[in-house]
Amino acid sequence: MGGDSDRFIMAGKVAPYHYLRPTLAHELTLIRDCRPMTFRAGRHFLQLPGPTNVPDRILRAMDRPPIDHRGPEFKEMGQRILTGLKEVFQASEHVFVYPASGSGSWEAALVNTLSPGDRVLRFDSGHFAETWGGVAGALGLGVDVLPSDWRKPIDPAAVEEHLSGDEDHVIKAVLITHNETSTGVRSDVPGVRAAIDRAGHPALLMVDAVSSLCAMDLLHDEWGVDVTITGSQKGLMLPPGLSFAAVSRKALDAHQKAELPRSYWDWSAMLTSNESGYFPYTPATNLLYGLDEALEMLSEEGRENTFKRHDRLAKATRAAVAAWELENFCLDASGFSSAQTTVKMPEGTDADELRKVILERFDMSLGSGLGKLKGDVFRIGHLGDVNELMIAGTLCGVEMGLGLAGVPHRPGGVRAALEVWSSEGGDA
Ligand code: PLP
Repeated sequence: MGGDSDRFIMAGKVAPYHYLRPTLAHELTLIRDCRPMTFRAGRHFLQLPGPTNVPDRILRAMDRPPIDHRGPEFKEMGQRILTGLKEVFQASEHVFVYPASGSGSWEAALVNTLSPGDRVLRFDSGHFAETWGGVAGALGLGVDVLPSDWRKPIDPAAVEEHLSGDEDHVIKAVLITHNETSTGVRSDVPGVRAAIDRAGHPALLMVDAVSSLCAMDLLHDEWGVDVTITGSQKGLMLPPGLSFAAVSRKALDAHQKAELPRSYWDWSAMLTSNESGYFPYTPATNLLYGLDEALEMLSEEGRENTFKRHDRLAKATRAAVAAWELENFCLDASGFSSAQTTVKMPEGTDADELRKVILERFDMSLGSGLGKLKGDVFRIGHLGDVNELMIAGTLCGVEMGLGLAGVPHRPGGVRAALEVWSSEGGDA
């Protein structure tokens, strides 16, 4: 045997002929040797606006066997977590936790508070606003869509105007995205609350805080939000797999009358079990170990410090983008996001090509353009467990990638970012 005729191609690699023999050992060897991954030294840079880097402390906390989720040890942890979450959301009533991705809480928010025939109001403000509206539509709810510029925050005055015209109050909920992760634009949640109040309309205010929670201030109670939802894989620094919904008294009251069918998401069953620190079905125990640790880490850093850190990283990233003479996708400074910076590509260049070069050459993942923004933007995540040096490395990777991919830009973005931190202390 030997020579080219004895070889075959698998997963892009040439494998020797003897791998074809069908013994288990050989099959395992074949699977291992033909993995398409090449060896990478050092740590992968996961600079997406979610999933984000999971700190070693959290990974270690999860690295132990599940316990009896109906036993006393679990009860103690469950109660601690449910209390700790109230602090994170600044919500006094309750925070529901599901073994689900963030999308689960989109559905939970709707099915627990609304009834067949109800309408919701949303903005055409980005991919995630669109997708949440799609969930409402799939549940048979009517969806009113207000036009919006994806490059700017939503306009609260449009909510007031639309709700003022809804004299019969058929609109039961206003759905908004705090940080629209597809665009990197932050919207004014208290402004929307005030607009609903000015219209004298009873609609619930539901806020998607999937990529804003822990990166920027969010005061569920004080801002008059009725349901705030998020997922675990962003500012909470956990792996994907948990979904959350903080609720107001008004949302809980609406739940009593809501008639959309529900089972898995049902708040009543969850509330009953949560009272004693338990869940109505098997919870994601190991992710909850991680959440317990994440809550501890967040309290060690302190809310204000966490927000300031994100602001500092965002400010330097924006300085880099400006120095490269590239465009921040967000056109309105009031909408700048502390969680991510979305960069618009120069005409005639492709963001996915750039991301590919950066991934292959520097082992760094950046966020892609979603929906209609595919290829036109890339997204730099500065969300979760990140610090200055991690963002400096990230910006180095982007700057080198811009050069290698032949994207027209001016060098000096990294230097501009470093100057933000070194000259001003970087507080935004
Ligand atoms: N909402 C926003 C703003 C998001 O960024 C995402 C995901 O990135 C989602 C909702 C959906 O969350 P998941 O993918 O965890 O279901």
